[in-house]
Amino acid sequence: MAIDENYLSTYEQSATFDGENQPIEIWTSADQPYKGIGSDKLGIWGTIVGVDFDLCIADGACIDACPVEVFEWIDTPGHPASEKKPIMIREEECIICRACESVCPVEAVLISED
Ligand code: SF4
Repeated sequence: MAIDENYLSTYEQSATFDGENQPIEIWTSADQPYKGIGSDKLGIWGTIVGVDFDLCIADGACIDACPVEVFEWIDTPGHPASEKKPIMIREEECIICRACESVCPVEAVLISED
C-alpha cells in the first residue's frame, strides 16, 4: 500500500502541528483518523511534502536524500509502523526535486506542487 495520491482532495485537513516557520497540515479520512502523537493513528502530514505517517517505517532515506533539509525526526511512541517519523518541519523550503518520494521503500511520500 502506498500513500493515497488523491488525499488533498479526498481527505479532510483536520489538525495542524507546528513547523519551524508555518503550521504543518494533518490530513485524515474516516479510515485514517488522527488520534495524536503517542497513538497508533497519525494520518497524512504535509501538503506540498506529504508523508503517510501510518505507513512510514522510519527508514530515513527521505531525510538523507533531501538537499535542503526539509525533514527532522519526530518521536511517535506507540505507533506500530515506527516510533519516529520524518516531520516536514521546513516544508516551505521544498524545491520539488522529488528525491524523497523516489527513495521511500514503502511509498509513503507524495510531493504536490502548489
Ligand atoms: S522533494 Fe526534494 S526538496 Fe522537497 S522534501 Fe523531498 S527531497 Fe526535500
